[in-house]
Amino acid sequence: MRRDIFTEEHEAFRDLVREFLAREVTPFHAQWEKDKVVPREIWLKAGRAGLLGIDVDEKYGGGGNPDYRYYAIMDEETGRAGATGLGFFVHNDMIGQYLLRLCTPEQKERWLPGYCSGELITAIAMTEPGAGSDLQGIRTTAVRDGDYYILNGQKTFITNGQLADLVIVVARTDPEAGHRGISLLVVERGMPGFERGRNLDKIGMHAQDTSELFFTDVRVPAANLLGEEGGGFVGLMQNLPRERVTIGVYALAVAEQAYEDTLRYAKERTAFGQPIGSFQHNKFKIAELVTSIEVAEAYVDDCIEAHAEGRLSAVDAAKAKWWSAQVQNDVLDECVQLHGGYGFMNEYRVARAWRDARVTKIWAGSNEIMKELIGRDLGL
Ligand SMILES: Cc1cc2nc3c(=O)[nH]c(=O)nc-3n(C[C@H](O)[C@H](O)[C@H](O)COP(=O)(O)OP(=O)(O)OC[C@H]3O[C@@H](n4cnc5c(N)ncnc54)[C@H](O)[C@@H]3O)c2cc1C
Repeated sequence: MRRDIFTEEHEAFRDLVREFLAREVTPFHAQWEKDKVVPREIWLKAGRAGLLGIDVDEKYGGGGNPDYRYYAIMDEETGRAGATGLGFFVHNDMIGQYLLRLCTPEQKERWLPGYCSGELITAIAMTEPGAGSDLQGIRTTAVRDGDYYILNGQKTFITNGQLADLVIVVARTDPEAGHRGISLLVVERGMPGFERGRNLDKIGMHAQDTSELFFTDVRVPAANLLGEEGGGFVGLMQNLPRERVTIGVYALAVAEQAYEDTLRYAKERTAFGQPIGSFQHNKFKIAELVTSIEVAEAYVDDCIEAHAEGRLSAVDAAKAKWWSAQVQNDVLDECVQLHGGYGFMNEYRVARAWRDARVTKIWAGSNEIMKELIGRDLGL
């Protein structure tokens, strides 16, 4: 089905991203999966190519272009390339939005140039060993002491955790104030008491440095408070539509690539003297795959447009997130099946995509949490 949300300029940008990924990422990604981390150099290259901070003001080295569709294209192409090691979507679609919305002019001067050039890699640390979905259950504390906050706590599953130079840490500044007692503090590489734990051993997304982080009496300058004290929860909620639609965009792009790979394979691979795609069961399966992707894509495209125009609701974005994550996982499972034994081999893109896809139903708010939010919105 023809998509009509992108212009010629958008498509020219897509070509640039594709070319960047083909030249700088794809040939090296298998090695990065073994290393369990990408080199810092790829962040600098992305910065030089104008792929970081597209919506940041040009005076800080950004692209000065607020149109969300450019980021959507980046997420699609990264997904299609299977470049799971690139934590750019966390940097661009999550952290950048917090920085743009919440930074003081002084903080913007300090952080945005490095953010756009790739010299300052970012992460966001919400999840703790004892609290993920239930963010209000976090135990990390930040106690004001003059011009500093004393930060203590532990985070886990943090994307870009080994590489990050700036970490937005979600901490409790007032234990009595419920969600109004949660604040955002920017912890910088090298602050005494900030330690990185293990680069976690995952079942997929192997090139991504997902880590534990530890904070022991870290003296964080009050000048590193992001937004108002006690305003952290609201700050997090404001970015939810963006984060959720981004996961939807990414998930469907991965599914689409796997479907295309599978269609090609089903025409080439023969069994019992005929292409496997010509067996009616397989033909129907492939027809189902393309239908489910295109129908989901129409909804997500609507969400992309709505977000670009600033009118996407958190609930509609929740629908896009859980549905796309489910479609992605269902499609990939069928694609692996249609590849037979080759679908289980890591050298096949479809196998890697199947393994990497599982997390989409879990992170950025699990699919159950998305349904909980939708149900609540229905008055249930
Ligand atoms: C690879 C990876 C990268 C990540 N990156 C980051 C990151 O950069 N920063 C960050 O802060 N976090 C990150 N996370 C954490 C992720 O957001 C959490 O894992 C997720 O929110 C779920 O939290 P949890 O693991 O504590 O599960 P839990 O909250 O313990 O949930 C366990 C199960 O119970 C279900 N459940 C929980 N509450 C309800 C409810 N009310 N109703 C119905 N079901 C419910 C969940 O859906 C899930 O199935 C990452 C996770 C992974 C795996």
